[in-house]
Amino acid sequence: MHKTVINREKYDVITPEHVPEHIPLACPICQLIMSSKVDTTPYVKYGCCAWCDRMWIDGRTERWLGGWRPTETVVDMTLRALGMRA
Ligand SMILES: [Zn+2]
Repeated sequence: MHKTVINREKYDVITPEHVPEHIPLACPICQLIMSSKVDTTPYVKYGCCAWCDRMWIDGRTERWLGGWRPTETVVDMTLRALGMRA
């Protein structure tokens, strides 16, 4: 029996434009470790994790897009108050 193997190794990898090549391990705003799936969309849209999206942006998108960011002190106090930081 004769078997023919056709080499079809030529292919292109297509990735969507909106997916950044590198998503940092920690959120730039709260420094919490980001979970790849949940945090990808808010990171791509706003540069922060899903928690920061809900905490600081939800309903105040204009303010965020205008450049407002919580201070490190406010973020730290909020995380401590919620028991998310020792
Ligand atoms: Zn965050």
